[in-house]
Amino acid sequence: MQVIWAPWRMDYILSDDKKGGCIFCPGDDREKDQARLILYVGSMTTVLMNRFPYINGHLLVAPIRHIPELEGLSNEESMDLLLMVKKSVDILKKVMVPEGFNIGLNLGRVAGAGVEEHMHFHIVPRWNGDTNYMTVLGDVRVIPEHIDETYRKLRPYFENL
Ligand SMILES: [Zn+2]
Repeated sequence: MQVIWAPWRMDYILSDDKKGGCIFCPGDDREKDQARLILYVGSMTTVLMNRFPYINGHLLVAPIRHIPELEGLSNEESMDLLLMVKKSVDILKKVMVPEGFNIGLNLGRVAGAGVEEHMHFHIVPRWNGDTNYMTVLGDVRVIPEHIDETYRKLRPYFENL
């Protein structure tokens, strides 16, 4: 039996500020970007880090517009979204030197979407042997200090886009 590890099938995004609404809607306050792990806010697309990643460097790429379905995107938004997926992969390659990637989309709760109201791509960098590593760790996820450190490494690259 071949087991395919598909981390994007499980979405563990939790919002810190439930009252503040959707974590994928960047809003106008850029002062909070670091606290919210937002790496990039463009005219049509935003990139942020998954607060509860399966592996460090797990990024989320979403349209600025709060829409649930892929087919709701305009052609311009679709192009911009894929362009940012591409640029994010490029930055992860430079900063974290992964050996591969899983890139996926969960549409609808039944498909594993944690936040189904605002569609988003998952980009998960992969390294040889990382599944063994994660099995050992079990439910203990990457600690916040590591995420902040990764954020500080990635942020300058996104600021220079
Ligand atoms: Zn939203």
